[in-house]
Amino acid sequence: MPDQAFLQYISDQLLMLKQSGLYRDPKVIDSPTDSRVIIDEKSYLAFCSNNYLGLANDERLKDAAVSAIQKYGWGSGASRLVCGSLRPHQVLEQTLARFKATQASIVFPSGYMANLGVISALVGQQDTVIIDRLCHASIVDGCRLSQAKLQVYPHCDLDALEGILKRSPKYARRLIITDSIFSMDGDLAPLPGLVKLARQYGAIIMVDEAHATGVLGQHGRGAVEHFGLEDELDIVMGTLSKAVGSLGGFVAGSHEVIDFLRQRARSFIYTTALPPAACAASIAGLKIIAD
Ligand SMILES: *Cc1c(COP(=O)(O)O)cnc(C)c1O
Repeated sequence: MPDQAFLQYISDQLLMLKQSGLYRDPKVIDSPTDSRVIIDEKSYLAFCSNNYLGLANDERLKDAAVSAIQKYGWGSGASRLVCGSLRPHQVLEQTLARFKATQASIVFPSGYMANLGVISALVGQQDTVIIDRLCHASIVDGCRLSQAKLQVYPHCDLDALEGILKRSPKYARRLIITDSIFSMDGDLAPLPGLVKLARQYGAIIMVDEAHATGVLGQHGRGAVEHFGLEDELDIVMGTLSKAVGSLGGFVAGSHEVIDFLRQRARSFIYTTALPPAACAASIAGLKIIAD
């Protein structure tokens, strides 16, 4: 028989969520996630999805996924470090590197997992991570997993960040992380100022381009391109799950950084690779954006 105190704890927690208005019961949609969606047989205008370019239901992405299923099947079988990569994994990483104009890239099953794996691979107990107060939950979780000292500066406050940098010289490495477009407020991080501070204080800087990929910059590469900072950042991650209309997270960068992540990012190593069809759809989405 399950532990009674445990069951009581769970139902108390649910009740508390309901009483505080934080309980969520997502709607079920009977259509693709386009700008109009069908819920309970009624059509609604949707403002909540991240499918910014409408690619999630694009015929070209669907065709690419179907062809990949026919050639490679659905599942990918295992972690890539165990079984090897399927060709679509490799082609996607090459496509991403070209899209972001970097030497190489690495693809994770989601953006969430990219942040967990990358941050925990880059910093540890001797280090500190310094993040914007409104950074995405996956960044916060990656920082916690890394066991580096977590420090938070008020939203987009460069003076406060500088204060923290001045006060924390004792750490082996200092990693500054920010969303480029903030996921809930939609505002743009002051990337030029952040890069300047990072260089001035010898810190590493990582930018999360989840919401900016496919949306900002002349080639749609993101806010880093928008600000002309492509040679200035240490780590740039993004997701294929938003404007690209598919699924997966990625880091694009130098051969060595990507090689290191392949060896060290646990959310890449200890999990099954993306289905090849998801990679094929991402390749198609990136091509549309590039064109
Ligand atoms: C959505 C989002 C992620 C996670 O990406 P998924 O591919 O959905 O897991 C990471 N960082 C930010 C800023 C996001 O908005």
